[in-house]
Formats: sequence, structure tokens, C-alpha cells
Amino acid sequence: MDFNFINSAKMKRNFILILFFSALVHLSQAQKQPVDLLVYNAKIYTVDTDFSITEAFVVNKGLFVEIGNKDNLLSKYEPTIKTDAGGKAVFPGFYDPHSHFIGLGQMLSQCDLVGTSSFSEILKRLQVFASEHPESYWIIGRGWDQNDWDDKAFPNKSELDKLFPNKPVMLTRIDGHAMLVNSKAISLAKISKSTKIAGGDFEIKNGDLTGILIDNAMGMIRRVLPKPDESEQREIIRKAQAECLKYGLTTVSDAGINQSDIELLDKMHKDGSLKIRDYAMISIGLGNLEYFKKKGIIKTDRLNVRSFKLYADGALGSRGACLLEPYSDEPSKTGFLLTSENELDAYFGELIQTGFQVNTHCIGDSANRLVLDLYGKYLEGKNDRRWRIEHCQVVNPADVPKFGQFSIIPSIQATHATSDMYWAGDRLGSMRVKHAYPFEELKLQNGLLANGSDFPVEYVNPLFGFHSAFARQDAKNWPEAGFQLENALSREDALRAMTIWSAYANFEEKERGSIEKGKMADFVILDQDIMQAEPSKVRDIKVLKTFIAGEKVYEIMN
Ligand SMILES: [Zn+2]
Repeated sequence: MDFNFINSAKMKRNFILILFFSALVHLSQAQKQPVDLLVYNAKIYTVDTDFSITEAFVVNKGLFVEIGNKDNLLSKYEPTIKTDAGGKAVFPGFYDPHSHFIGLGQMLSQCDLVGTSSFSEILKRLQVFASEHPESYWIIGRGWDQNDWDDKAFPNKSELDKLFPNKPVMLTRIDGHAMLVNSKAISLAKISKSTKIAGGDFEIKNGDLTGILIDNAMGMIRRVLPKPDESEQREIIRKAQAECLKYGLTTVSDAGINQSDIELLDKMHKDGSLKIRDYAMISIGLGNLEYFKKKGIIKTDRLNVRSFKLYADGALGSRGACLLEPYSDEPSKTGFLLTSENELDAYFGELIQTGFQVNTHCIGDSANRLVLDLYGKYLEGKNDRRWRIEHCQVVNPADVPKFGQFSIIPSIQATHATSDMYWAGDRLGSMRVKHAYPFEELKLQNGLLANGSDFPVEYVNPLFGFHSAFARQDAKNWPEAGFQLENALSREDALRAMTIWSAYANFEEKERGSIEKGKMADFVILDQDIMQAEPSKVRDIKVLKTFIAGEKVYEIMN
């Protein structure tokens, strides 16, 4: 036999086989769909209805195309970028359904007074700030909380007047419902001892203004503040965005802003300088209602303007929350309404005729009762208008079922509970505090609630609110047994409350809030699994990467 012949025949056959298989490979590659991104080797919490967990997904043109097994996805798709998640946990992009996004940017541009242990520390920080910003005429600070000091009485303006006789000073309290100003600011705003304002208070002691202004009184100072020009305002918004992306937030909100800010957000989205998605609630005043009633809902991929924000009352810390019975630690006070019953009634009556959602700030049990009843008068029964109550902190047990009866969405901030728990009992007394921050009870009414942070009142990091919601503990993991643990959410529900349920509260659950086919590809990769981690470790978990519409918008520096 001719061995050469056999060899060449074998080779020929092999060659033909190779040709055949390579043609096959080519053919299958030609049939593979090109896509932008494949994320694999991940533990993906989809937060779909079954709460299913998977290992890979593909993204194209900003949307999730398919979710499932890596090999299966690779047989069908040809991704431009493959991201190995290194076995890490992946979640839908986090939501903050009640925050003050532009307010955060402003705060980042002001003197930070958060976490001070005394008023003299405030004075020191202001002096440093003033020397670092010699160009600014106004000294503006935010974030003081006298409840953190040994002396828990409100501060007054006398030391500020000594330090800054010629510069106006405005220092907003942590909750945004009180401020301390100096005499220069008072004279610029033309405030006198006899000035009165509905829904506000100018504190007077020993016959003189102390410099403490509560709620609507603060508007008189804000009116004389210099307005930032567009480039300054853009810088403020960019600072806020950088801070939010760091914590995995992909949809934030502005709980009450004006037309001009809404228009700037839209402009920045369109020119690509702003990526984060914003649920902008319209402030009811300043001509906004007339303007937006005519203009109607604004909806783009990144901006959703379809709600009005109203204030029923103030905050518990400054005793501005409107209570049914007097404050336990100041029996002459029951708080007050910032918007009268007649005005609220008229606004709701007008807004029910439009497609807009109504989101009303209610902290005290009296404010909650009033607004639930007024909402009920117009909503009549079950409905899909998704009108919200923002905060719902002190709700009389008799009023809780009204959330379900009228399909009203509780928009809560779990960190308020764990920040306020140190003194909420003083304000409310031991009986009433038992019904404060009743998150689980509220959730049961419609089977969902939205959990936000109210930043910059609280910290931006949504994992703080997630931890507070299921553990009912603060950053120090106190109290050990949890604060009124009977109203804790389960960990799963706490995750839903900052993803899919928040999306629902924003009318966005069909587009976002979970990792599902056809939804917008917003997601985060974390360095640890928040669903498995020790509760005491959850607040320290870091975001490794944040994606909006499949685009990486943040990556942690090593
Ligand atoms: Zn707020």
C-alpha cells in the first residue's frame, strides 16, 4: 500500500472537515446578534415578581435584552464589551423616591454643619469657611442639629453678630424646617419684631428676635439670597450627580423645585452633562401650578415631571409637625399647618382634574389625618392616581387603613426613624411614639411602599435606609434589639422599597426598578451582597460600579 496516498487522502478529508466546521462557525457567528454589553459571573438579584436570581444578562441600546445563563447568552449574542463581575452581587440601579437632588448640590457648595457636637464647633467651621471663600458675601451653611449637642436649646444670633457684623449669615437646620440667621441677614430681609407670616414663626425671646426662623418665615431670607447664574447652577447639579452615582443611585428625585430648575435639568440631560434620572416634583407655588397645568406632564428617558409637591406641616425636631394632641415635651404647642386646610382642599380639587400626581409632606398625626381625608374626598375609593404622602411619620392607628382604602402610597424615609428615635419619645410620649414610623403596617395597606432618604436631610447612601428599614438600627447598630422592630420590613421588601416599589411610586415600574427584558439597563455591582451580609456590615458595603442605560457612569478608585 502506498502510505503517501493514504496520508494525503486523510489529509484531504480532514481539510474538508475543517472547512466545513469553520464555515459552520462563521455561519453561527453571522447569526449572532451584536449587542453592547454582556455582564456575567454575577449574582444578579433581578427583583422581578419571583425575586429570581441569575448569573448573566445582555444589554443593547440602553435596555436589558435577555437575562439568564452566560453560555446560552454567548451562543446567541456577540457583545462589544464583556464585563466579568467577579462573582459579585448585582442589583437594579437604586432609587431615591424622595430626595432633594439640587438641594444636595447646594449643600455641597455651602459650609457643612452636619455632625457638629456644639454651637462653638459651628462657629469654628464658619470661620474656616469664610477665610476659604473671601469672595462670597453671604455665609451659607446647612446641617446643624441642636439635638446632637449637650445644650439642646435652639442657638441664637448673638455670637454670629460678633463674628460677622457686616456679612449676612444663613444656617439651615438639618431638617430644612428651621434656620438661624444673623442681624445683617435680618435687616437685608426687612424682618422686624412685628413681622408675622402664616405657617411660619420668628422666634422672640426677651423682647428680641433670636435669629431662629421656622418654616414659612425662612422664605423671607431666601427671597433676598443672590440667585446663582446658569454656570453656577450647572456646577451645583454636577456635584450632586457625582455624589449620588457613588452610592449606586440611578434615579433620584427633587421633592419640590421650580420651573427654571426643571428646565435646566432637561437641558443638561439633553446635552449629555447630566446622566442620572430625576423624578422632579413641582413646587405648588410661584406660578408653577398655572404653568404646568397648561404645559402638562414632561416625560423623557431621564426626566419625569408628573407630580406636585405640597407641604401640610413642618418637622418633628423643630416642633412644627402638626399633632392631634400637644407635644409631650412642650404642652403649649401642637405644631401647625404650613398650608391651610382650605388651601389644601382647593389644590387637591384642582389637581384631581389633571393627570398630575399629588405628593404631600405630612409628619404629624393631625397633618396625616387631614390629608388622608382630603385625598379620600377626591379619590373616593381604590384608584391608580398613586397620590403619595411624603414621610407619614406619626400616623394615628385609626388612619392607617385609609392608605389602602384610597390607594395612597406611603413614601417613607427609614433613616428618619433611626435618627429621630433618640428624642421622638420626648416629643410624642411613650404611647404615641409606638405608632410612629409604622413602616410594615403602612406597607400592608397596598402591599408596597417607597423608601427614600430625604437627602440632604439624611445621608445620600441608600444602604443606610435599607439597613434602617430591616434592622431598625442606626449607624452605631443601636439599639441592639432594633427600634420598634415590629415595624421592620423584611430584607427583600427593603430592597423592593428602594427599587421596584419606588419605581411604582414614580409611575416608572414598566421601565425600570428591576432587571427584566425590555427595561432600561440601570444596575449596580457591589463589593458584597447586601442580602446576605451581617446587618452590622451593610452600611459599609461599597458600590464598585454604577451603570445607567448600560453606560458605566461610576467606578470605585482602588
Ligand atoms: Zn423632603
